[in-house]
Amino acid sequence: TPYVTESPTHTKPSPDMKLARILFPLPLPEPFDYAIPDGMDARPGSYVRAPLGKIERTGVVWEVVEKKPDDERDLKPVLDVFPTPPMPEAMRKFVSFAARYNVAHPGHVLAMVLRARGGLRPSPTSTIYVPTGHRSNRMTDARIKVLDAARDAGPTSAAELARQAGVSPGVVKGLVDIGALEAREVDTDLPYPQPTNFGVGDHLTGEQAEAGKALRAAVAKGGFQPFLLDGITGSGKTEVYFEAIAEALSKADDAQILVLLPEIALTQAVLSRFEARFGAPPAPWHSGLSDAERRRTWRETAHGRARIVIGARSALFLPFRNLKLIIIDEEHDTSFKQEDGVTYHARDMGVMRAKLEDAAIILASATPALETMVNAEQGRYQRLKLSARPGAAKLPDVELVDLRTNPPEKGNWLSPLLSRALVETLEAGEQSLLFLNRRGYAPLVICKACGERLKSPATESWLTEHRYTNRLVCHLTGWSIPKPEKCPMCGAKDSLMGVGPGVERVAEEVRTLLPQARIEIFSSDTARSGEETRGIVDRMAAGEIDVLIGTQIVAKGHNFPKLTLVGVVDADSGMKGGDLRAGERTYQLLSQVAGRAGRAEHPGRALIQTYGPENPAMIALAAGDRDGFLQIERDVRAELMLPPFGRMAALIMSAPSPELIQEAGKIAGQAAPNGEGVTVYGPAPAPISILRGRHRIRFLITSPRDVDLSAYMSAWLSAMKLPSQVRVSADIDPYSF
Ligand code: ADP
Repeated sequence: TPYVTESPTHTKPSPDMKLARILFPLPLPEPFDYAIPDGMDARPGSYVRAPLGKIERTGVVWEVVEKKPDDERDLKPVLDVFPTPPMPEAMRKFVSFAARYNVAHPGHVLAMVLRARGGLRPSPTSTIYVPTGHRSNRMTDARIKVLDAARDAGPTSAAELARQAGVSPGVVKGLVDIGALEAREVDTDLPYPQPTNFGVGDHLTGEQAEAGKALRAAVAKGGFQPFLLDGITGSGKTEVYFEAIAEALSKADDAQILVLLPEIALTQAVLSRFEARFGAPPAPWHSGLSDAERRRTWRETAHGRARIVIGARSALFLPFRNLKLIIIDEEHDTSFKQEDGVTYHARDMGVMRAKLEDAAIILASATPALETMVNAEQGRYQRLKLSARPGAAKLPDVELVDLRTNPPEKGNWLSPLLSRALVETLEAGEQSLLFLNRRGYAPLVICKACGERLKSPATESWLTEHRYTNRLVCHLTGWSIPKPEKCPMCGAKDSLMGVGPGVERVAEEVRTLLPQARIEIFSSDTARSGEETRGIVDRMAAGEIDVLIGTQIVAKGHNFPKLTLVGVVDADSGMKGGDLRAGERTYQLLSQVAGRAGRAEHPGRALIQTYGPENPAMIALAAGDRDGFLQIERDVRAELMLPPFGRMAALIMSAPSPELIQEAGKIAGQAAPNGEGVTVYGPAPAPISILRGRHRIRFLITSPRDVDLSAYMSAWLSAMKLPSQVRVSADIDPYSF
């Protein structure tokens, strides 16, 4: 392989040889031993290649140990060492910790680190041609054209020069032969521009400046220090944590900062805001990157050249060299929890990573998670508060609309009160936002003739009707079919009917109410790419949309100065199901949505439609009493010993048939170890009871706080002997149940 610098000089290990214990990015429980050939610089953390079975694989040296004299094994040698700086010890400890805590194999966690392992290669190079200024008398018209092109276009490839000059690429080579052009090998990736502006932000308000100072002091002092930056929406939390970033950048030339954001908040607008503040663009990490962009961010992070990395949850597993500060913005957001593969919570793991890196960490939110609030109360996190929006901007007035006394007309979803407010807002030349967390036209399709509810064959979940595409879609898997003309059960014609509202149906209702209004839908169906998202956000910001109808995608971070009315179509939709955080999440989501209104000089108003205005979450929303609401939630959880006052885990099992999963549940139940204070509930059908043809069951496990529930789960997993077709995994702090 051309991209590795070292090759083994010989492959036979000598007796006093050192052993490299190599961890591979595979779900294996242990590192494997290899011989380090003489003269090879393989040290702890080195990225290496080594043979595993018949294949050469990339792995990381986890440890280097002396070979014991009585060790008779004939070990295979490490083949090569990559020129990438070794993975620092703090990072290796973090991988081991994350594996242990989340009950996964260390190699499985390493696989997340090495996801963009192409970044181990140096940046790709290409050949460019630069005029030397050397004169020659062997010039032709074609050669002169190429030289002119090289002067105009600047250094570029032979093909490009030839194209611009309208000649064959051979002419470019000819100019090299006579010394008029010089060929140079260069990295195709330009080096990242380095941040330049570390000064204090302009025009900070009093409380912003104070919070900024506290963060700067902590970062300057160094060491592990967790903060909760608790500020209402629009209070300038970003401006304040910029202070901490500036301080960290100024500390050392290679100091690095990681900013985690929910995937859907990672817009170009946010990246540009960082660039404007620090004079250089941050390195991005999210699902919209090309492979080349991903490799580049990985490589530049590993080499310590990317100073600010801004990414979604998996950026937590990038191999920073000198991480000084972590920021987790919207720390309450549920997208920080990874639900498949290795399940982990990026906020909780982020705090642990900061601890191992001896770095500061800032959790920012307008609606902190109960867990985080309790940590702040108990003094584990230092809390900084921002209680006002700068300038004239005010939080919107929030009113509850009781749908029992203010019912929408038959077939409609907007109450007369909300409809009137929409009319008035349009007449005033201002913008409205309607929030409904349901994509498509109708969340359920039934047959009027036989009563059949159409289900997804793979998951048994209901199919959603999408009118724009005229398809029925499974939102769990993305599977879809054209809407059938006949009921697949009874064959009746034109009998299929969508039930309940989705954003498309609400858009239809608004179009009837306000025929002259410019209406757009903002959901993952209309904002499929960064470009489409930007388009909608830009049109909204420019006042080219009158009514925006959106799913949770609208709740995040966007500033719309002319938005004065927010309507929540169905505030109760998130309260169903047996989720212990349902109330908390509804509160967080709806206060984020309401917080979109009234950003600039225009005061805002939020109308929240509900059938349960007596619910504590609704009362708190209307009163703006977040802390009162959290207090009620806190008391309930403390009483029931639920997180964060107790621990919780889930065991998820799946199998291809109902009989097999029942059998597996029995085996697992019998294998459950006795644990002091540990209670095992179940098995019961999992929240998604069938997925991709597999039947799923779940146990829930609770314990007091001082029990090591990860160790318990790990012991349980190793105690069960299951048929090979059964899969089983643990989920610490499960979110959906
Ligand atoms: P948050 O992160 O708390 O929602 P932001 O940092 O995004 O708040 O700030 C909200 C808006 O207010 C942004 O447009 C920001 O530029 C502006 N802003 C913040 N602080 C100030 C200030 N001191 N003076 C003027 N504008 C400010």
